[in-house]
Amino acid sequence: MAKTGFVSSIADQSEDFPGWYNDVVLKTEMASYSPVRGCMIIRPYGYAIWESMRDELDRHIKRTGHQNVYFPLFVPRSLLEKEAEHVEGFNPQVAWVTHAGGEELSEWLAIRPTSEAIIAEVVKDWIQSYRDLPLLMNLWNNVVRWELRTRLFLRTAEFLWQEAHTFHATEAGAAENVAIGLEAYRSVSEDWLAIPVVRGRKSRAETFPGADYSHAIEAMMRDKRALQAGTSHMLGQNFAKAADIQFLDVDNVRKHPYGTSWGFSTRMVGATIMAHGDESGLVLPPNAAPKQLVIVPIFRTEEDRTAVAAAIDALTATLDGVTTASGPLRYQVDWSDASPGFKYSHWELRGVPFRLEIGPRDVASGQGVLVRRVDRTKEPAPLAGLAAELPKRLADYQKALFQRALDFREANTHSVDTYDDFKATLEADGGFLMAPWCGDAACEKQINDETGATIRVIPFDSPDEAGKCLIDGRPSERRVLFAKAY
Ligand SMILES: [Zn+2]
Repeated sequence: MAKTGFVSSIADQSEDFPGWYNDVVLKTEMASYSPVRGCMIIRPYGYAIWESMRDELDRHIKRTGHQNVYFPLFVPRSLLEKEAEHVEGFNPQVAWVTHAGGEELSEWLAIRPTSEAIIAEVVKDWIQSYRDLPLLMNLWNNVVRWELRTRLFLRTAEFLWQEAHTFHATEAGAAENVAIGLEAYRSVSEDWLAIPVVRGRKSRAETFPGADYSHAIEAMMRDKRALQAGTSHMLGQNFAKAADIQFLDVDNVRKHPYGTSWGFSTRMVGATIMAHGDESGLVLPPNAAPKQLVIVPIFRTEEDRTAVAAAIDALTATLDGVTTASGPLRYQVDWSDASPGFKYSHWELRGVPFRLEIGPRDVASGQGVLVRRVDRTKEPAPLAGLAAELPKRLADYQKALFQRALDFREANTHSVDTYDDFKATLEADGGFLMAPWCGDAACEKQINDETGATIRVIPFDSPDEAGKCLIDGRPSERRVLFAKAY
């Protein structure tokens, strides 16, 4: 029996974006719910997408001189409580181990919400001299933050991420590393995932607990909401002082080093879904797609099947040597017994960039029909030349996807000058609102309380422009980016 109506079973993206998102995650078998509330099981299709961005980011991390290390899952309570702002920021979300080995523990152990506290304690033995600096480390691990409202990939109680932790002799050295982290995230987002980002500084209220300042990249999703796609923090000497890390500098004076930390998580799988997906499901950037091409044979008779199979065998012999921007071409021939129509929906839902349909008439003319997932354009493609063409076709697709996302963001970014205009625009259109702000946390809070929008970043690239704060009319030096966010 032909299975049809598969795609119609996902919620309408324009009517019910959260429902659409959940349907896509579950029906593409990227992830599923677990027996533990708020935790997720990442299934092979979702894990392959995570591995792709993880591996690309790991290349950036290593290329810039950082080394991978591992620290324990548990953080003793006394360590977590050393840096006052840090513990205050994380305490409500920490899961504690109170019993082990059949006994109550004399000191509770936090399941790491992040590793700054334990790292600072340990590296104080490693950092004795300026010669030990900079210390450039990165961890790939899982962390736990007990979230009340969870969503697959976007906000889960346990998630996978990397956390870089670096120590430097000077503030300038640390600042340079904050920028290195942010640039790695920009590159993975834009160049690998085709998601354009706005780079900037977080307001004080949105700064990482215990940091001097935080830089971030923000991306627009298809429902015009913002998603923070990576953060890089200047920790200053805060954690070094709390843990009493000191080194002997070139001038023979003992000093506290400056620290940074930066993180990028499985949220970015959710961002990839929401930045590109459409009413038929996922639309994946070729660099991160588990399959870049699916070949669908079309036949009715056994004789046709034999002819189509021979043509496909000849084609795949040439495809096996193809190298794309993200490694060897990843393709699949779908010989399953479903109907061609079912297969089209199945692979469209999964966001495979190209589909090649090959039937008996195509075989006779030495070509197939190549369909682009993003815009469903169809064109005849000669089979003999396809292997040679595919790397460029995939690169063009990757570029087109980025441009589409950039155009969408630009079309949904609005400059507003008054609070009335701000509220009306947010209500009618949503999107990114570029508005003047005096820098006062009270004005920021009022806007958030009354509209639900937050300051996403104070963008690096927005020009100086004198204006008046939306709330109290005090001077603003430049526009900041407000949006409702994930
Ligand atoms: Zn103000």
